[in-house]
Amino acid sequence: MGARPRLPEAALEAAELNRSHGDAEAEAIIRLSMDLFRHQGGIAAISSFGADSAVLLHMISRIDASLPIVFLDTGQHFGETLDYRDRLAEDLGLSNIINVSPLSLLTSESDPDGTLHSSDPDLCCSIRKVEPMARAVEPYAAWFTGRKRHQSQTRAEMPVFEAINGRIRINPLAGWNTADQAAYMRKHQLRENPLVAFGYFSIGCFPCTQPVKPGEDSRSGRWAGAAKTECGIHLSGLENALSSTPIRTPS
Ligand code: SF4
Repeated sequence: MGARPRLPEAALEAAELNRSHGDAEAEAIIRLSMDLFRHQGGIAAISSFGADSAVLLHMISRIDASLPIVFLDTGQHFGETLDYRDRLAEDLGLSNIINVSPLSLLTSESDPDGTLHSSDPDLCCSIRKVEPMARAVEPYAAWFTGRKRHQSQTRAEMPVFEAINGRIRINPLAGWNTADQAAYMRKHQLRENPLVAFGYFSIGCFPCTQPVKPGEDSRSGRWAGAAKTECGIHLSGLENALSSTPIRTPS
């Protein structure tokens, strides 16, 4: 095993990948990224198994169903989401689901009764999402997400390839809209998270997710009524939590 320092390289690499492949079809982006990073530090995908997750997972399964798929098991998910994770993985033949839980030391100290979300949601997300996410992606040079620009203002300018503390985050579906998503789901007859039928168009933890009202954007049901719009795993919280230790690369 050898190591390569990737902090400045990753930013240049992301910029170059956006120039060369940022407008490619989603499946082509997934394929080329797997080819590129599989032997250069490794690659995984992050999935919430929420309302929009099936498309990315289906595309991945058609290329390599053994790709590591990381699921953050916050301990606060809907039972429907946990059930959906298992059923969809079975449908698609995904053979490498990695469930990552919060550190029990942190939850027992800061959230012993599981109600921290109501008094300090930022700290709750920090120990139940951001720290586990940083731990989960740390071994990889790159990972996929299913995020899209249309989902919120904070994602409106999101590039396909992003440098995150020496690693590359890849958003193959960045340019997709709800119609693209629905058409793909129909065409491939993909299983839907059952909560979608009840108006949950963006699904996170049970205490912090509500159905979306008609005419509102798909993420309006997350932390509804609070200023909070993101849990931090896609913002600077992850960057701060993620060590900049050089990624080990097979020599
Ligand atoms: S979404 Fe809510 S319950 Fe889940 S980690 Fe964040 S604050 Fe806690």
